[in-house]
Amino acid sequence: MTIKLNKLTKRFGSLTAVDAIDLDVGDGEVLCLLGPSGCGKTTTLRMVAGLEAATEGDVMLGGKRVNELAPRQRNVAMSFQFYALYPSLSVADNLAYPLHAEKLSGAEIEKRVAQVAKTLQLESILKRTPSQLAEGEKQRVAVGRSIIRDPQCFLFDEPLSRLDVQLREEMRGEIKEVLQDLSRPTVIVTHDQLEALTMADRIAVMRDGRIEQVDTPHNVFQTPSNLFVAGFIGTPQMNLIPATLKGSNGDGLADFAFEGEQSLKIKVDPAVSKLSPGAKVTLGIRPRNLEMSVEPTEDSLSTKIDMVEPMGAETLAHMHDGYHDLRLVTDWRVPLSEGDLMHTRFPPDTTHIFTEDEQVLRSAP
Ligand code: ATP
Repeated sequence: MTIKLNKLTKRFGSLTAVDAIDLDVGDGEVLCLLGPSGCGKTTTLRMVAGLEAATEGDVMLGGKRVNELAPRQRNVAMSFQFYALYPSLSVADNLAYPLHAEKLSGAEIEKRVAQVAKTLQLESILKRTPSQLAEGEKQRVAVGRSIIRDPQCFLFDEPLSRLDVQLREEMRGEIKEVLQDLSRPTVIVTHDQLEALTMADRIAVMRDGRIEQVDTPHNVFQTPSNLFVAGFIGTPQMNLIPATLKGSNGDGLADFAFEGEQSLKIKVDPAVSKLSPGAKVTLGIRPRNLEMSVEPTEDSLSTKIDMVEPMGAETLAHMHDGYHDLRLVTDWRVPLSEGDLMHTRFPPDTTHIFTEDEQVLRSAP
């Protein structure tokens, strides 16, 4: 079973909410649609579920075009979040609840409840009511209720958004395990990158109705294909500094100038050999990859520390060179004080370069 979207488009009047997207979700694969508010994630999911008609394009389930099928006929399970449980019903009855509309026999319902209870390790608590359950158990029952109809694929819209931080962390791991066992194609909509990075086999990053990149969590983080994905994935955000290529020598040592007279030289060839002197680029470097130097070096930018934020094991420093804000994360033991001058080095092996049209020219190897 697979989900395939071909040039799927949704227009609301003059607004194009989803703009000709192509997407494949493999059998047993968990794909997260990730993007800022309003980028079209929910609309995409609703078109797969049949709750929203596509303006153009195809929704294919298991190789069959289902655009004209009603939601029920598609046999997909869409849940918007893991709903609260019915307090007066036992765990078993809560699990069985969605099956009553299906007109199944009592024996079949019992069989399904037993299966789901086994998958989610709820067997020992089937007779309890929600008030007798720990929070994590309640959430497992709620997950169970959304999977018990045994649909051919699962669609979740912000499933963890209502949970507190600690429970979210627990549930991310649990859901991932459960989904792996179920081996159905699954699409999860989220605007929370941590959720996507931990639960997904692949992430589709969306912006303005389009898909910017589809890749594994590792690759969207490590090799973002454009400036948007680079800035969107990763906290604290990647430093993105506009620069002009002054030139490069035969050894591949490139000379970049920044607004405000500063410049630095780093060895980033062969990428820059594709550019002419004067080319506008953006240098990208993650806050954990910037390095500090007491003395100015050829590959450093001189900055002043504006603010120091302790983050437990690490410290986040906000710096400024008069024109650009930079963020640096370092071990908490490194003494940093507001007002200090610091030379921040751009190591070539962690510096990304983006072209003027915002596409990646060079990923950090
Ligand atoms: P969020 O995380 O905020 O839900 P999203 O990425 O899921 O965002 P959608 O809900 O899919 O985004 O919305 C995409 C765009 O389509 C938004 O601009 C939204 O206002 C618009 N939109 C969604 N549903 C409708 C509708 N029924 N009528 C008109 N416009 C709509």
